[in-house]
Amino acid sequence: MMKREGAMGKTVHDEYQPLCLMVYLGGRCRLSCLYCYGSKDRPQEQTVSMMGFKHSLELVAHHCRIKKVPLTLVFHGDNEPLVYYDRIRSLVSVARETLAGLGVGLVLVCTTSGVASRKVMGWASKTFDHITLSWDGPPLIQDVNRPFKNGKGTSGFVEKAFNILKQGRCRVAVRTTITQNSCKDLVDIADYFKEKGVTRMVVCPVYPNRDETFPRDLIPDPELFATFFLKARNFGMQYGMEVIYPGVRPREKHAQYCSVLQKNLIMTSDGFLSGCFLATHNAMGHNTGFLMGHMDPDRAVLDQDKIDLFFDRTQGGFEQCQACFNKAHCAKGCPGVCPLVHSYSHQFDCRAEKIIGRALILEHQEQARMAYQGQVE
Ligand code: SF4
Ligand code: SF4
Repeated sequence: MMKREGAMGKTVHDEYQPLCLMVYLGGRCRLSCLYCYGSKDRPQEQTVSMMGFKHSLELVAHHCRIKKVPLTLVFHGDNEPLVYYDRIRSLVSVARETLAGLGVGLVLVCTTSGVASRKVMGWASKTFDHITLSWDGPPLIQDVNRPFKNGKGTSGFVEKAFNILKQGRCRVAVRTTITQNSCKDLVDIADYFKEKGVTRMVVCPVYPNRDETFPRDLIPDPELFATFFLKARNFGMQYGMEVIYPGVRPREKHAQYCSVLQKNLIMTSDGFLSGCFLATHNAMGHNTGFLMGHMDPDRAVLDQDKIDLFFDRTQGGFEQCQACFNKAHCAKGCPGVCPLVHSYSHQFDCRAEKIIGRALILEHQEQARMAYQGQVE
């Protein structure tokens, strides 16, 4: 890890060099998901300033230019980005103009619930390089998990959205959130998506969140989740559909989802730079500990002490992970378990990560063995 001596003899970290700018545009959404992570008592709307956005973009572009990589610009759910269609169009146009002037490429990414007009979806399909569509499965699951605020089902909308998106230029991944109630249906869910033409299914269990905005019994039992995830994964492999659990990635170096580790700069709509993807605003002051800067008002001002804190706490590591086979590839309980909140001695349940990690490592070993055997025969 690169460290240097800072002012007053403090150790500061040089390695926070964001290559991705993630923008949370505001809290509007037409759905009322069972496991919504948004704060129910969020106060009035604010949005990122154009000047502030441009400054943050230039800050990230500086690092992209040095690394010779395109800048990834992400519009993320806090709660439904495409509600802010007009705003996104303006921001994309500023990004294109600014980055063209700096000689830096642009990769555009958006998450969506799929509940937007045909016109907006059509535009999104032609504009973004990658879209993650939140879709929990067949109507019996989707309409229970992710209904409209008036209780009506969203299945029809989401399926239409997917059909529009797959005709565009973007790569579409479906993000499926699994509750305790839908765990055992994971293979049926994968089968349903295979029939619809989905090629990439990202499976996430409901995570515990800090604000406790939903009943805890929606969180799946770890062993049940791991067992049915692996079955769904095997099913997907037979049909050329990727089925992924982002919490364990044996093929890459992986840790918690903090901005500093993921090389992200996150702008919140109320003028902060967030260090945590769950800290999407700080309207009630409840996320102050998870911020790593602010807008002043049109300049991004990073707080080096907070950046150092994120690095130090995440790299200090939980005691239970120190000797684990999975430690270089595991999100280590994030976001339910967080080194900024819990002490290193905190014991937590990571059976799902261990079961999935072991299965994927064995699978890769077997693939390597077969490839080797093919070479020598
Ligand atoms: S480790 Fe903590 S701060 Fe980092 S992303 Fe996870 S919950 Fe947020
Ligand atoms: S599997 Fe458990 S012990 Fe191992 S790295 Fe992940 S969270 Fe830590």
